[in-house]
Amino acid sequence: MNAIIFGAPGSGKGTYSSRLQSKLGVDVIAMGDIFRENLKAETPLGKKVKSYVEKGLLVPDYIVIDVLKQRLAKVAKEKGFILDGYPRTIDQAKTLEGITKIDVILLQMVPDWIIIERLSSRRICKSCGAVYNIRFLKPKVEGVCDKCGGSLYQRSDDTPEVIKRRLQVYQEQTSPLLQHYKEKNVPFIVSSITALDTPPETVIETMLKELKKLNLA
Ligand code: ADP
Ligand code: ZN
Repeated sequence: MNAIIFGAPGSGKGTYSSRLQSKLGVDVIAMGDIFRENLKAETPLGKKVKSYVEKGLLVPDYIVIDVLKQRLAKVAKEKGFILDGYPRTIDQAKTLEGITKIDVILLQMVPDWIIIERLSSRRICKSCGAVYNIRFLKPKVEGVCDKCGGSLYQRSDDTPEVIKRRLQVYQEQTSPLLQHYKEKNVPFIVSSITALDTPPETVIETMLKELKKLNLA
């Protein structure tokens, strides 16, 4: 299965893709994670993307596309992948089309008020990138990752100001891509969340059922 997971910031893309990864054995390519790792390690790439990521703006296509190509080349053919955070512009989508075929779009529909609630209480593991929420998806021990024991931190772009900017960028630059994929007749699996406390398991169960119908799980 080659999938793209779409949705606004905070719509659960990272959480769902990592669960699908453990259930289906697919590879997950998370553009934001790649950038954050490079920021932390202060690599040349990290230095190039820093100002964009911190402001909640899109990193220029020529940088992103290069990173995607390198990462995609490492996916084992039999595994398939989920792209999280790519494509975010029409040019990124067109580049992808030149490289590989997409079987399904996993679209997360979440109202803005839930997103804002979630992002402002989100915490990430410093070591493995696992996502928690101090209100709705708590780790067993406060401040400590259940999976690896790493310490949890708040992303520097999870501040009210930057969250607002990221939501705006999604509406203006990324959501038009949905129309693009509809026109290409790529199948969609749409998950709509209407409550703050919907557990990820519920969403995943439905997604897996739909993926089975498409012979992708
Ligand atoms: P979000 O929670 O906003 O979906 P991500 O972790 O996917 O965030 O990405 C964090 C930041 O990294 C974005 O705000 C943007 O600056 C940059 N970024 C990630 N993916 C892309 C992309 N495909 N194109 C341009 N910039 C990107
Ligand atoms: Zn961890």
